[in-house]
Amino acid sequence: MADVSLRGVKKQFGALSVIKGVDLDVKDGEFCVFVGPSGCGKSTLLRMIAGLEDITEGSLAIGGNDMTSIGPSERGVAMVFQSYALYPHMTVSENIGFGLKMTGHSKAMIAERTAVAAKLLQLEPLLDRKPGQLSGGQRQRVAIGRAIVRNPEVFLFDEPLSNLDAALRVQMRTELSKLHQDLKATMIYVTHDQVEAMTMADKIVVLSAGKIEQVGSPLELYHRPNNLFVAGFIGSPK
Ligand code: ADP
Ligand code: MG
Repeated sequence: MADVSLRGVKKQFGALSVIKGVDLDVKDGEFCVFVGPSGCGKSTLLRMIAGLEDITEGSLAIGGNDMTSIGPSERGVAMVFQSYALYPHMTVSENIGFGLKMTGHSKAMIAERTAVAAKLLQLEPLLDRKPGQLSGGQRQRVAIGRAIVRNPEVFLFDEPLSNLDAALRVQMRTELSKLHQDLKATMIYVTHDQVEAMTMADKIVVLSAGKIEQVGSPLELYHRPNNLFVAGFIGSPK
């Protein structure tokens, strides 16, 4: 587990200023949700924490260590990609263990961690199937399994449920909340879905056009939105 802190973080794509100075602390073990309209910079911010995008200006620390210029594989973070990122020719088990295999872990270690992840995610009966033989929700669980086996201190999710139908999204919300309780890991979760944010978050970060509008618990944002933007996005109608 680790806390994540951003100081004065900016991101520039050429002349385009996408993240305009973000200061944020995510506590150890917290479930933090980034919410905001499409194009406001949620994915960019998450990718900078993951190390998949350079930080143009400012700094990032994870577990108290400066990570601003550290490579993605050395940050102790794992990003959960959407289900389409599974390898179609590999079994569930192979998909889950693939990252560990690439980083030279022993077969015994891979088998052990895959078994733990499969149990947590209720994938045990499906380990020999190929992704094409799975439902959307099962595929998404495999994608989460790939992150779990790396034992990350911080999990990063970018709209992991957006490809799923409404009923499955509700079920997966509950499962992800349970997983968070089980693993007690720090999780940063991006969504543009207010209901997901309200039901899953310990802390919600409302973003608009590359800036934080407000940070607070679901109840704080709901009852005491700072401005009309937050109120319109999350807050109670007044
Ligand atoms: P969100 O995830 O909130 O929908 P993004 O972080 O994907 O928003 O994008 C924020 C802005 O940055 C958008 O205007 C997008 O077009 C732009 N952007 C994202 N990635 C790049 C890139 N690699 N090059 C140029 N512009 C980008
Ligand atoms: Mg996005």
